[in-house]
Amino acid sequence: MPYVKPLPPFLAQRYHGWKATTYSQNKAWFRKLATEGQHPRAMIISCCDSRVHVASIFGADAGEFFIHRNVANLVPAFAPDGDHHGTSAAIEYAVTALHVSHIIVLGHSQCGGVQGCLDMCTGNAPELEESSSFVGRWMDILRPGYERVRDKYAPEDMAAALEKESVIVALENLMTFPFVNKAVENDMLTLHGLWTDIGEGTLECLDSKSREFYSV
Ligand SMILES: [Zn+2]
Repeated sequence: MPYVKPLPPFLAQRYHGWKATTYSQNKAWFRKLATEGQHPRAMIISCCDSRVHVASIFGADAGEFFIHRNVANLVPAFAPDGDHHGTSAAIEYAVTALHVSHIIVLGHSQCGGVQGCLDMCTGNAPELEESSSFVGRWMDILRPGYERVRDKYAPEDMAAALEKESVIVALENLMTFPFVNKAVENDMLTLHGLWTDIGEGTLECLDSKSREFYSV
């Protein structure tokens, strides 16, 4: 594997810093996590975007959150077709093995994936419409969301509206998974929708009745 290289020095240095501080000061906690396994209270589904700093926003320690990140924090509909479903696998494990009490879908401002969907839906991104585009086919999940917001918002508000709609679509699709649906029905699991503005540092929460987001 000649293409695999040693860790760049800047990362190795940061690792040694972490080992000497965070790890060494909390060694018992890490040992406990290792021996007793993980018992996270919540699963968080967020975007891959490097600016969405999930662990920092919630001050999370190791072992607290089961975090899954993908392009535009989406969840596909339940489709047991034998294909490779990374997001669905993470959800299945979180709900049926870890028995998390909460699943939080976290959307964000300036989302490139959502913008791509918007461009595709308005005919401005032919490359995303290619069948070979992984991003395009992934963002197809959000097309029904675009149809719901397309006539409701001014062009300058459309991106944020669709970012929030991506959270709603993900939550709706979560409920198509039988084990999610059952856990929700049995009051063993609650679902939550959030959207964060990266520049402002604000966090908004989805109100299930109005389908609007309010400040946390
Ligand atoms: Zn994003």
